[in-house]
Amino acid sequence: MSARIELARVDLRGRTPTTAELRAALPRGGVDVDSVLPHVRPVVEAIRDRGVEAALEFCAKFDGVVPASVRVPAAELDAALANLDPAVRAALEVAIERTRIVHAEQRRTDKTVEVVPGGTVTERWVPVERVGLYVPGGNAVYPSSVVMNVVPAQAAGVDSLVVASPPQAQFGGLPHPTILAAAKLLGVEEVWAVGGAQAVALLTYGGTDTDGAALDPVDMITGPGNIYVTAAKRLCRGLVGIDAEAGPTEIAILADATADPVHVAADLISQAEHDVLAASVLVTDSAELADAVDAAVNAQLAVVKHRHRVSEALSGKQSGIVLVDSVDAGLRVVDAYAAEHLEIQTADAAVVAARVRSAGAVFVGAWSPVSLGDYCAGSNHVLPTAGCARHSSGLSVQTFLRGIHVVEYSEAALKDVAGHVVALSHAEDLPAHGQAVQARFGSLT
Ligand code: NAD
Repeated sequence: MSARIELARVDLRGRTPTTAELRAALPRGGVDVDSVLPHVRPVVEAIRDRGVEAALEFCAKFDGVVPASVRVPAAELDAALANLDPAVRAALEVAIERTRIVHAEQRRTDKTVEVVPGGTVTERWVPVERVGLYVPGGNAVYPSSVVMNVVPAQAAGVDSLVVASPPQAQFGGLPHPTILAAAKLLGVEEVWAVGGAQAVALLTYGGTDTDGAALDPVDMITGPGNIYVTAAKRLCRGLVGIDAEAGPTEIAILADATADPVHVAADLISQAEHDVLAASVLVTDSAELADAVDAAVNAQLAVVKHRHRVSEALSGKQSGIVLVDSVDAGLRVVDAYAAEHLEIQTADAAVVAARVRSAGAVFVGAWSPVSLGDYCAGSNHVLPTAGCARHSSGLSVQTFLRGIHVVEYSEAALKDVAGHVVALSHAEDLPAHGQAVQARFGSLT
């Protein structure tokens, strides 16, 4: 495609829109997960009822190949790591090391609060026992997603991890070898060759493998995937914990006249490379920068490998340039948008970034592009999309921990507050609650 791309413009100059008006005005795409639920529900129910037998039928139907067993043999993991391109191995090792450094420091620690003498409440952070990590394998291969899901789970202390990824016909029904190698590098020994909705359902319900070995169900499923994966997560939520419903990826860049249009254009393009539905949004108070970015995008498109995909994403309704009166006004816009990835490319970028309230992750200044965060910054790249950053965080060690309140009161401490418990139990017409306290002190009236 050689046609010139014109990023759509939203001109908010001279206006002070309300939050609702802002949300309506900003470019945003979306995926209609509900529309595939009728298609995905029978897949989930078949796995629930018939386990691996059904899963393998869906592998044949959707992946065009049936793996010999769901569980990938240990020798295949060893072989994949042995054959991994040394440059990719070195890069993955750096990504793993940096991500581990950051996530190890972020683990919450238990905290005991003495409410009154003899009365304590402790918050204990306990890892989820068994976690399934979905690694997409349809259109592209994402070894970095293995790193970003496994490292926080391991830092949280999750004992049992299984990676699931679609079987690939060109690899004899195994997941992509780079995924196997990344799992092995991280010390994950259990990998299942199953993808899509059938993977989510099999992780949820478990089953018996073709060789009779048990495939144990998990307690939680994390990891991105396409619309079928997302729909299956929605159907299985409750039976298992899920991280989030990941939508198409997004970047917003808040930039002023000091930004380099070549950098801005490159970063908008790099996000658009993911998916035709990916969103790339520039918010700026400089019309000159907007024009220069438009020109730079078109110049760079000539040498972009996935030009068709990038062009479609950049000219989609989810992408564009938003013109504002000032960086302050731009901050309001990016907070309302709540991008998965937000770059700040302004003068005093750190000061501006410190004022951001809503974003999955913030990338500060000229030397912190999103693609650094995708791989090697040490941060996590599994982040909330579709405005969910207004209320949710990205994947982290905390995702894999449950906070358990542990209550311990002495006799004296209970006696001291007994009257209040009784009064509240009567106010709620639950007198047995009060009596459970009174019984300890010899009075049931
Ligand atoms: P995928 O593994 O999610 O999906 C492939 C599976 O979809 C196949 O195994 C098949 O079982 C199933 N499938 C295909 N067609 C089907 C149909 N018609 N009906 C039912 N099931 C069907 O891989 P993908 O398709 O490449 O999608 C990966 C997604 O993950 C992309 O949208 C990508 O942008 C996203 N992603 C997000 C992040 C993030 O951090 N947010 C990271 C990596 C990837």
